Order: sequence, then structure tokens, then C-alpha cells
Amino acid sequence: MSKIVTLHDKDFEIYISQDQINTRIDELAEQIDTEYAGKMITMIGNLTGAFIIMADLCRHLKTPVDIKFVKYSSYSGMESTHVVKERMGFGGMDLAGRDVLIVEDIIDTGLTLHYLLDLMKHKEAASVKVFSLLNKPEALQKDVSVDYIGFDIPNDFVVGYGLDYDGMGRDLNAIYKLKE
Ligand code: 5GP
Repeated sequence: MSKIVTLHDKDFEIYISQDQINTRIDELAEQIDTEYAGKMITMIGNLTGAFIIMADLCRHLKTPVDIKFVKYSSYSGMESTHVVKERMGFGGMDLAGRDVLIVEDIIDTGLTLHYLLDLMKHKEAASVKVFSLLNKPEALQKDVSVDYIGFDIPNDFVVGYGLDYDGMGRDLNAIYKLKE
């Protein structure tokens, strides 16, 4: 695994390895299996960033899952735009009575998640919980709670494992942060 990668004009250094991620997903999957025993989980991944962690998480779980995707985003380049845009909404998704687990790649300001949770209020789900691979507590601006967090990280810009820098880096097998 390369320690430094260059994407466009910027260098990124390894931050969280694939082994660390795997171990953490194992731990969280075990916790989720215990908490959802006897139920089916409707996993809703927020594209594009969540596609890798979603694929990993559902294969670590023993609990049966139904997989769905939406696409809401607030980021452009390396910064939050503070406006959430719907690229692919819930449409006619029937979530009444379902145990929904929203899957995110990262919580930064919390704006996107807040928006998603607001929309979920009208869906009559039996329960709604949130999983995020990464969480930046120092950047949080909205009152949102995340039930399952892979890693709390400082307010750095990161790429890899689904996260991009202007379209690049999503395929990296680990998390990298911007090199100072
Ligand atoms: P929020 O709405 O919480 O501010 O931002 C969440 C979204 O912003 C994430 O789903 C992700 O697309 C993007 N984002 C936030 N922080 C980062 C980061 O450090 N790196 C990358 N690549 N995207 C980020």
C-alpha cells in the first residue's frame, strides 16, 4: 500500500489502513447484528461516497439486508457548499415499518445527514439509525447523532475508501489525508 498518493495537484498521506478499517467494520458489524437480532435491515447508502463502505458492511453482517441508495450532497471540491442538493431522491421508496440504517461515508458539518433525517420523518419507518465510516466532531454544525461510527477524525480533508477529491481517489483501499 503506497504511503503517498497524488490526486490532481495535491499529495495525500496514508492515515487509516485497510487492516484498521477491516477490524473496525468487524467490530461494528458484530454490534449491529446483536442490536438487530431477528430483524431485517433496510440499508440506505448515500452516494457516491458510501458505495465502498456499504458493500463492505453488508457483507460483514449476518443480519439480512435490503440495499437501497439515494444521492444527496453538499460538497464541492474540498469544501462544504452549505447547501444540500438532491441528485437522486427517495422517490416512491416505501419505508413504512422498516428498520432503516442510513449509511454515510463521512459526517462533516452534519448538514447532509440532518437533511436526510428530516426527510425520513415522513417515511413512517419503524426505526432509523445512522452508520458513518468517518466523523469529524470538530466540524459539526447540526445537532445530529450517529449511532455507529468507524473513526472520529480531526477536521482534515480525507480521500479514499469511497471519498474523492474532484472525482479521484474513491478506489483507494485506505483513508488518506491531505499532506501538510
Ligand atoms: P456534511 O453535509 O456533513 O458537511 O458533508 C458530508 C459530505 O461531504 C460527505 O458525504 C462527503 O461527500 C463530503 N465530505 C465531507 N468531508 C469530506 C472530506 O474530508 N473528504 C471528502 N472527500 N469528502 C468530504
